[in-house]
Amino acid sequence: MEKICIAIDGPAGAGKSTIAKIVADRLGYKYLDTGAMYRAVCWAARSHNISYTDEPGLENIVKQLQLKLDYSAGVTEVFIDSRNITSEIRSLDISNAVPVVAQSASVRRALVALQQRLSSSGGVVMDGRDIGTVVLPNAELKIFLTATVDERAERRWLELHNSGVTIELAELKKNIEDRDFIDSNRAISPLSKAIDAIEIDTTSMSIAEVSDKICSLCEAVC
Ligand code: C5P
Repeated sequence: MEKICIAIDGPAGAGKSTIAKIVADRLGYKYLDTGAMYRAVCWAARSHNISYTDEPGLENIVKQLQLKLDYSAGVTEVFIDSRNITSEIRSLDISNAVPVVAQSASVRRALVALQQRLSSSGGVVMDGRDIGTVVLPNAELKIFLTATVDERAERRWLELHNSGVTIELAELKKNIEDRDFIDSNRAISPLSKAIDAIEIDTTSMSIAEVSDKICSLCEAVC
């Protein structure tokens, strides 16, 4: 079967990475978590005391960035200069700041180029906000995953709770709403559904149902 590119976009907490990993594993494809890349740049800016709106400062950061993503067995490990920052980039601090950094033209230019390079040989499932519209406009299969904000907040809360992180549900819901607002309204590559993307509302679907659906859509285009 031909190896294609699958783009999965959607708002925060819609289950994109959970589903993308399952689909990639089932198809024997690579998985690329583009949100982790923006989080890593945000982490680097913070550790160099660069303001999240300092465009020349951010440009400098991405120019020197030694970023490595290692995906295996359902986990993406993220490294900057060989330091493992996998759990640090998931903090609420970074989650609140990353949409600001993701507005930067230099950051987006550098990360989009890297994402395109990493997927140039096909056989990839990539999730993010602008994959179907900007990063992989020719992807053979584009999915736009949604769910109600309450459902997304509850899912994310459960995920964090199970990994030992304590956070108020209301605080998490606010973070999701704020991120969606900034991501959908930014000037460059806002979160939006590509014209040719298939929208799947996952509110009352199980993880297995969503991944089965995407795998069968993939079979239909391969
Ligand atoms: O996917 P995740 O929720 O980890 O993404 C974190 C943030 O990174 C998003 O809220 C968004 O601001 C940014 N992002 C982006 N474009 C992408 C992926 C993520 O702007 N392709």
